[in-house]
Amino acid sequence: MDRAASGALVTGIEREMQESLLETGAFAGVEDIYEKVLAGERLNREDGMRLYETDNLLALGFMANLVRERINGSNAYFVKNYYLNYSNICELDCKFCSFYRKEGEDGAFLMSLDQIFETVRADKENITEMHMVGGLHNGLPYDYYLNLLRGIKKIDPRIHIKAFTAVEIDFFARLYGLSIEKVLLDLKEAGLDAMPGGGAEIFSERVRAKMFADKIGADQWIHVIKTAHKVGIPSNATMLYGHMERVDERVDHLIRLREVQDETKGFFAFIPLAYHPHMEDSTQWATGIDNLKSIAVSRLMLDNFPHIKAYWISMGPKVAQISLGFGADDLDGTVRDERVFRMAGASTETALTKKQLVKLIKDAGRIPIERDALYHTLESFA
Ligand code: SF4
Repeated sequence: MDRAASGALVTGIEREMQESLLETGAFAGVEDIYEKVLAGERLNREDGMRLYETDNLLALGFMANLVRERINGSNAYFVKNYYLNYSNICELDCKFCSFYRKEGEDGAFLMSLDQIFETVRADKENITEMHMVGGLHNGLPYDYYLNLLRGIKKIDPRIHIKAFTAVEIDFFARLYGLSIEKVLLDLKEAGLDAMPGGGAEIFSERVRAKMFADKIGADQWIHVIKTAHKVGIPSNATMLYGHMERVDERVDHLIRLREVQDETKGFFAFIPLAYHPHMEDSTQWATGIDNLKSIAVSRLMLDNFPHIKAYWISMGPKVAQISLGFGADDLDGTVRDERVFRMAGASTETALTKKQLVKLIKDAGRIPIERDALYHTLESFA
C-alpha cells in the first residue's frame, strides 16, 4: 500500500510537524478545524460554512490534501470514456439548462440506436466507459433504453455503462407506469453498470422553486439513488454551484450526501459542477478560487466518499490540474463529444487524450492511474 494512503501510517515525526504548523499562524481563522482534521474527526455544518467563507485558501487546500492523501495517496485517476448524449429533447425547461430543446426546435436531436451503435463500434478500442444521459423525451418507447444498453454490451461487453441520472430514472418510472425499483432492475439486467451523479443540482427548495421547479426535489433524488444502491447499482453524486445558491445550501447538500453514503456506501465519487451562465456578462459564475474551494470543502466534508472528481470540462483542465493539490484525486477522462456544458458555453477543450491527461497529472506531482469505471487500476504511470 502507498504509505501515504493510510492516515494510520503517518509517522510520529510527520504528525509532530503537522501539529507544529499550528504555531506558524498558517491556519489563521481555521486552527480548530485543522486540529479536527489532524485527529480525523468529522466536520460539522458550521465548519463547512467557515471553510467556504475563509480567505485562507492555502490552509484550506493543505487540509483537503491531507485527507486526500490519507484516502488515495498520491494517485490521480482518469478513465478512457465517451460522453454520449442520446437526445436533448426534454419535456422540462430548467432555467439554468442550455442543453434542452423542444421537439422540432432548431438544434433538437435524437440519436437512433443504429447511430449510437455505429459510434461505439467505430471507437470501441478507446472506450472503457460509456457515460450516457439525455433530456426527458416523452415520445420514446421503454425498449429504446433497454435495447440501447443491450446493443452496447453486445458490441463490447467489456465497456462499462454509466447512464441515466436519478431524474431520468424517475421520469421512466412515471412515463411507463413502473416502480423505480422495477426500472432499475430492468436497466441493470439490460447492461446498466452504474449511474452518473447528475440531476441533484443543489438540494435547496428555495433554489429549486426559482431554477428548476418542475424537476424532482432532493427527497425523490435521494430515494432513487438509495434504491439504485440497494439493487446493486453504484453511482456518483454532483452539486451544481456558482449560481444563486448560498453557502449554507452548499454545505447542507454535502451533509445530506454524506448521510446517504453512511447508509448505503454506494457512491464512488463526488463531482462539484461549476455553473455556466447563459449570459456572457453574467456575474453569476464560479471563479477559479470558487472551483478550488468547492473541491477542497467537499473533500473535507465528505469524509466517507472514496473519490473527489475535478471535472475538467466544467472547470477547465488547468484549474482541474491544480485541484489535484486541493483534495481532488480524479480528473474524469478523455470525455469526447460532451454536449451539456458545450451548449452552455463552456470554452474548454472538447476532449483530452490519454497522453495529455498523464502529463497534466505528472506535472501536478501526482501518479497517473488509468482506471476502469470501478476504480480498478488498468495502467499505472508511476
Ligand atoms: S436540466 Fe435536464 S431535465 Fe432540466 S431542461 Fe435540461 S435536460 Fe431537461
